Parts: sequence; C-alpha cells; structure tokens
Amino acid sequence: KAKENGKSIYSEYNNSMNAAFSERMNIEKYLHTAMKRDEFELYFQPQLDLSSNKVIGLEALVRWKSPELGNVSPMKFIKVAEDTHMIIPLGEWVLIQACDYLSHLFKSGYPKMVMSVNISSIQILQEDFTDRVTEILKCFNIEPRYLELEITETRLIEAFDTVYNKLRLLSDMGIRIALDDFGKGYSSLNYLNQLPIHTLKIDKCFIDNVSLENEKTVVTKHIISMGKDMGLSIVAEGVEMQEQLEYLKKYRCDKMQGYIFSRPLPKSELEKLLKSMNSDKFKAVPRGA
Ligand code: C2E
Ligand code: MG
Ligand code: MG
Ligand code: MG
Repeated sequence: KAKENGKSIYSEYNNSMNAAFSERMNIEKYLHTAMKRDEFELYFQPQLDLSSNKVIGLEALVRWKSPELGNVSPMKFIKVAEDTHMIIPLGEWVLIQACDYLSHLFKSGYPKMVMSVNISSIQILQEDFTDRVTEILKCFNIEPRYLELEITETRLIEAFDTVYNKLRLLSDMGIRIALDDFGKGYSSLNYLNQLPIHTLKIDKCFIDNVSLENEKTVVTKHIISMGKDMGLSIVAEGVEMQEQLEYLKKYRCDKMQGYIFSRPLPKSELEKLLKSMNSDKFKAVPRGA
C-alpha cells in the first residue's frame, strides 16, 4: 500500500514537472519570434502621491499577446527571456517604448510625471547599457529625472560590483533608481545600505495584511520610517483595499500603486483616466503649437 501511494505521488509530481517543463518549452519556442511578430505591448500603471492624490508616475509593464499561447504573464516569460538573453532586445524595446510614450504625454500637455521601467540585471550587465539609456533619453528629449529604473535584488548578487558601478553612473546622471519588491528577498537590508537608490518599493506581501485594526502589522510601518530616514521615496505596491490606504497614510508612505486606484492600463485608457483626473486643469496643447 505504502509503495502504491509512493508511486502515485511520484507520478503526480512527475506529471506536474512535465507540465511545467512543456509550458516553459512552449514559452521559449514562441518568445523567440514574438518580437518580430510585434506581439508585445506596454501597459502603464499609475502611481499616486498619497498627500496630493495626484498621479506622479507610471510603471511600464510589458504584456505578451501570443496567437499560440494566449496572454502570457510576465511572471512566466520574463524569467525565460532572462535565461535565453532575449531580455536584452526585449528590455531595450520596453525602454524605447516607455520613453516614446512619456514624450508623447509631455507633448500633449499632461502634467509631468516619472516613468518607471523594470530592468533586469542581465541588461545592466551589458557593456553598453548606460550609453544606450543616455542615447534613448536624448532621442526622446527626456530629462533624466523623469526616468526611474526599477531593479530587483534577486540577481544582484551575481555581479554586485559591476551592477553597483553602473547604477552609480546612472544615478549621477540624474536617473532615478528604485529597489523593487523590497522585503521579498533575503538580504534586502544589506543592499539598502549599499546601493545608490532613490525609491523603495515595498513588496505587496508587506501591504496585503496592513490595516489600522491589525496591530500585528508593525513591520510595514517600520520599513516606511526606516526608508524615509534614509531619504528614500517610499512606494507601496499592490494596494487593493481602503484599510491598507488608511494605514499607509497614517504612517506617511509617499506613494502607492494598486488596483484600488487603477490596474495597469493600455495607452488609450490611461489617457482617459489622466484626463478625468485633471478635468478642471487639463488643457491639451494643440498639435503643432
Ligand atoms: P513588478 O515590477 O513588481 O510589478 C508589479 C506587479 O504587480 C505587476 O504585475 C502589476 O500588474 C501587479 N499589481 C499592481 N497592483 C496590484 C494589485 O493591487 N494587486 C495585485 N494582485 N497585483 C497588482 P505584472 O504586470 O504581471 O508583472 C509581474 C512582474 O513581471 C513585474 O513585477 C516585473 O518584475 C516583471 N515585469 C513586467 N514587465 C517587465 C519588463 O518590461 N521588464 C522586466 N525586466 N520585468 C518586467
Ligand atoms: Mg516593478
Ligand atoms: Mg520587478
Ligand atoms: Mg514589485
């Protein structure tokens, strides 16, 4: 009996391994041609300033609409893109599209805001990464302070010194650096002390359970105050409920991003939202003016 159980557990494990493996193989197979076939699109999630209630930033998030696989989550394909180094052309495409769009928003007369772009450490390690970023900003006539690069700590360890030097260079140029998913990794505090960053994005898992009722959630308020003591701008990720918002306001978190305000949106919907928020102040600059 025990043997039978063991066997069925093994084959279940084996089946799910196979399923995961073949999903990955499929992603790899179709990711290869996805760029040529123009299957990627950028969505933008607004970041709200908690004291003024204004949109002060946008995070660019890539979407893949594959004719063969349907909509594939970046949580699945970014890892594959990194492993295959497809992230290098894809990441550059994202950066160009995001800057192009920001310059469109500025030209159309929308209020100034910061564009945040997720960057894989594989991109940063490319020899010409800092030059490419500079060129792209120049090409779209965007001041460095309107670009924020979001990095995650997961792969930083591999080449800390190189990554550090590049981030220093970018930061000295005036580009903002954000540490994404803070708290999810294992040596966060160490990086916080060492990296030249401007923004701390608190991972959703530290936001999920906060409320003024639940005094067990002391860690989050200490992360906020520690970050602020270090002079960082604090962004709460994944805010979905009013209780969370109240907590964040009480403990003076600077900004938030989350479904409670808006999901990531395609361009046309984002512009509708921006217009409705500024309906009294917004005046589009006529084309050619
Ligand atoms: P991230 O950078 O931490 O982005 C935040 C993720 O949380 C996004 O998922 C966003 O849609 C989701 N989110 C925002 N607010 C809420 C909320 O209130 N509730 C919930 N449940 N989720 C919320 P998304 O778009 O699926 O992206 C997942 C991850 O994929 C990103 O996490 C980022 O690490 C990566 N990614 C996305 N686009 C790019 C890209 O262009 N380049 C790179 N290197 N990575 C990217
Ligand atoms: Mg991010
Ligand atoms: Mg990220
Ligand atoms: Mg994050």
